[in-house]
Amino acid sequence: MIIADRETVLKTPELADVMRRIVGSKNVLSTLEDRICYSCDGSKQQYLPDIVAQPCTTQQVSKILCFAHEHNIPVYPRGAGSGLTGGAVPVMGGIVLDFSRMNRIMEIMPEDLTATVEPGVVTQTLQNEVARYKLFYPPDPASAAFSTIGGNVAECSGGITGLKYGVTRDYILALEIVLADGSVIHTGRKTLKSVTGYDLTRLFVGSEGTLGVFTKITVKLIPLPETVETLLAFFQTPADAIKTASQIVANNLLPRALEFIDKSSIDCIKAYNRAFKIPAETNAILLIDVDGRASSVTTESSLIEKIVVENHALEVTTAKNSQERNALWEVRRAISPALYNIAPFKINEDICVPRSQILEILERIADINERYPLLKVANFGHVGDGNIHVNVMYKDGKSQRAMAEGMIDEILHATVELGGTISGEHGIGNVKSAFVPLEIPPQELQIMRNIKQLLDPKGILNPAKIFTQTNNKQPLQ
Ligand SMILES: Cc1cc2nc3c(=O)[nH]c(=O)nc-3n(C[C@H](O)[C@H](O)[C@H](O)COP(=O)(O)OP(=O)(O)OC[C@H]3O[C@@H](n4cnc5c(N)ncnc54)[C@H](O)[C@@H]3O)c2cc1C
Repeated sequence: MIIADRETVLKTPELADVMRRIVGSKNVLSTLEDRICYSCDGSKQQYLPDIVAQPCTTQQVSKILCFAHEHNIPVYPRGAGSGLTGGAVPVMGGIVLDFSRMNRIMEIMPEDLTATVEPGVVTQTLQNEVARYKLFYPPDPASAAFSTIGGNVAECSGGITGLKYGVTRDYILALEIVLADGSVIHTGRKTLKSVTGYDLTRLFVGSEGTLGVFTKITVKLIPLPETVETLLAFFQTPADAIKTASQIVANNLLPRALEFIDKSSIDCIKAYNRAFKIPAETNAILLIDVDGRASSVTTESSLIEKIVVENHALEVTTAKNSQERNALWEVRRAISPALYNIAPFKINEDICVPRSQILEILERIADINERYPLLKVANFGHVGDGNIHVNVMYKDGKSQRAMAEGMIDEILHATVELGGTISGEHGIGNVKSAFVPLEIPPQELQIMRNIKQLLDPKGILNPAKIFTQTNNKQPLQ
């Protein structure tokens, strides 16, 4: 699907006038400096939008889309811009819709176990607010402190709680959506169950801003677990760690978090902060959270400790209070900055394989790495649900980028071969669109394109994302 010739599109001054009439002057950003701030996201690509509008109401979003539809102008919904696959990047110029002004928690209904929010609400703000009612919104991406519910729904974000509680899609009950032509639809119900008609809500969750723009989101809540305990276990081999993870679940235990850290990541963490007490022979770490009622948590965590010890752990530490828990989680949080300390450039993949294939994919990645000796690979992630963040790191941005891409290509092929997926939670955006046909067969891909065509016939909504398209503007860098 090719968007209309960009030459016919209005330029920044005319667009600014129209946007000011719709959302008010203080909610339009048109200077070069402002537009540069909205030109990138966590994927570190840079494309300049023509204008940034900050709508405050559904009606304003609808008017903007009506206008954009009539004039063939691309529109990019944007939350916090923390996406890692270029979802919010305005690759063809046009209008960025920044949802930071639509950030109200509209209602929390403790008896119904629901909350309705605007898309710009920061995920952790919602988690904290519902906790005041002893309720829990479980999806917990590591970016929860700054990413938005709108972005989470568009990406179907996961995070550390996926194994026990599922991902964003499992908590979205109803959506208010503005379609590409400006019309407003409502999908789902504010009920915990509903099977009337096709599940349109699920179609839109994970659609990466390409099918419609969310203006209200109703989420499901569950009772807040009474307590959480954390265990940090050090292993001499990755095989012991992976076997432990598997045996924990096989023993009817379902931890809230089951995180894996490999040897390369451990080396980076050690170099980053020597204060972390990690036994010298450690080649793999498991970080485990157990939650629930205090009495069952104590029992479960001692059962897990027993399994950890039986699988030859070098050492295991248990934290009982939030201060001790935080100290253990510091090791996990240190990974991202620690990796950048070793090499300034990295490509971050988030493959997901069936749980039985975790060790196999780690071994295949190691084998592939042998063919790329100048590159360093660090793997960590949500091993409980088979989701591994593979980080290919390189020191020279010019000469080694192609090498890193070659390595990623091989890793993604191996992942799909093992029955896995090229993205467990970060989405496709424009960064991974070339790899989609590797996983999705032509007929299924055509059904997806037909859905896009039906809902956005002019291709104005977040163009050139998910599906490959070649008529992007030149990036700024
Ligand atoms: C340090 C760090 C840690 C992270 N950890 C995790 C993790 O553990 N798990 C995980 O899944 N992700 C993680 N991410 C990725 C990222 O935070 C998530 O993808 C997040 O959901 C993006 O939210 P956002 O508000 O920043 O959205 P943006 O990046 O602004 O946008 C993401 C996508 O959502 C669309 N969008 C935004 N708002 C709307 C709307 N109202 N209607 C329709 N579409 C919309 C955009 O067009 C875009 O396609 C991490 C990122 C960083 C930087």
